[in-house]
Amino acid sequence: MSTGLSIRAKHVRPSSTLAITDKAKRMKADGLDVVSFGAGEPDFPTPANICEAGKKAIDDGFTKYTAASGTVELKKAVCDKFKRFNGLDYEPKQIVISNGGKHSLTNIFTAIINPGEEVVIPAPFWLSYPEMVRLAGGVPVIVKCDRENNYKITPEQLKNACNDRTKAFVLNNPNNPTGMVYTKAELSELAKIIVEEDIYCVSDEMYENIVYGDERPVSIASFNKEIYDRTITCSGLAKAYSMTGWRIGYTGSAPEIAKAMGAIQSHQTSNPNSIAQKAALEALNGPQDAVETMRQEFEKRNEYMYERISKMPHISMVKPMGAFYAFVDVSDTFELDYRGLRVHNVFEFARILLDDYYCAVVPCTDFGFDTHIRLSYATSMENIKKGLDRIEEFLKGLDDVDYV
Ligand code: PLP
Repeated sequence: MSTGLSIRAKHVRPSSTLAITDKAKRMKADGLDVVSFGAGEPDFPTPANICEAGKKAIDDGFTKYTAASGTVELKKAVCDKFKRFNGLDYEPKQIVISNGGKHSLTNIFTAIINPGEEVVIPAPFWLSYPEMVRLAGGVPVIVKCDRENNYKITPEQLKNACNDRTKAFVLNNPNNPTGMVYTKAELSELAKIIVEEDIYCVSDEMYENIVYGDERPVSIASFNKEIYDRTITCSGLAKAYSMTGWRIGYTGSAPEIAKAMGAIQSHQTSNPNSIAQKAALEALNGPQDAVETMRQEFEKRNEYMYERISKMPHISMVKPMGAFYAFVDVSDTFELDYRGLRVHNVFEFARILLDDYYCAVVPCTDFGFDTHIRLSYATSMENIKKGLDRIEEFLKGLDDVDYV
């Protein structure tokens, strides 16, 4: 035997988007006026009542181990939320509380995937899914979705991607990075395929509270018993309650899956932070007005972003229906000339914007779309205006040159 990294570790790809966001941070630290559309985290403080509940937990000495899969009181609060918000009936034994949504998702994949089993992931996707599947020994099967269908997977695409090695399908609704939301009718068609193929549905509903207009988020598990039994519904507190740093996520699933995930978690991390669990309890059971205030603010920003970007030359986007991202097609710039050089690709697009216009955007190559960038509007209106002005200036300066 000799030393060396495991095959799993060797295959994990570091996020290429981090290169841009790290560079933006360094530039900011050097005193440069950088506007960042990078962060996927609400720019609001965690609501005061939630912070108070955390402080009280410390004062009350609630600072020891809890049950590994979370406290019963928090599981009950999650059941109430599932009932109230999603129309889903879960009992506490079906709930696992974890250290954030990411942890919930890794628990799910570890619990359901055998080596070599396939997981269908529609692209564009949140960049962690394929890596999580690989880490669990599975094989991600990427299905590229069309802009004409608002970047959503069709039932035919899902069916065609399934075979006898398929174990699960990942549904992210509302979607990061596209901001798209599946309608009830679309979900119902997908549910039929999932049941027909007898696979699991991993339904990541992390952005369920951030939905715009008349759209209402629908949980795929809510249609009937067949799909309910096959779905692991995953959500968390990070986005809706601006609690990214507290690290609480949760799942609702069939009891045997919850039991397996609880056992896995009991060895890997034990309980999620006890103080954060008390804060999460207050978040779910306490007043919900802060959630709505943040949602409204995101909606205003969404309108503004969409209106401005739609009028800019060379780029375009579909109007988001939820989450807080603009998914922008910049492929028309790849043939254009910037100060004597071709823009070439999405990394070059992002690099020029950052180096010359002090504006950080995320190239979506790691999200399965190398023609698009993601702009997070979880930043102030003032920053949004400034950043969009810079993008516009850059785009207006691009020339159409015939390359030979
Ligand atoms: N799912 C999606 C689609 C996300 O965008 C994120 C975070 O960005 C997560 C899950 C994980 O959230 P958490 O911060 O709770 O780990």
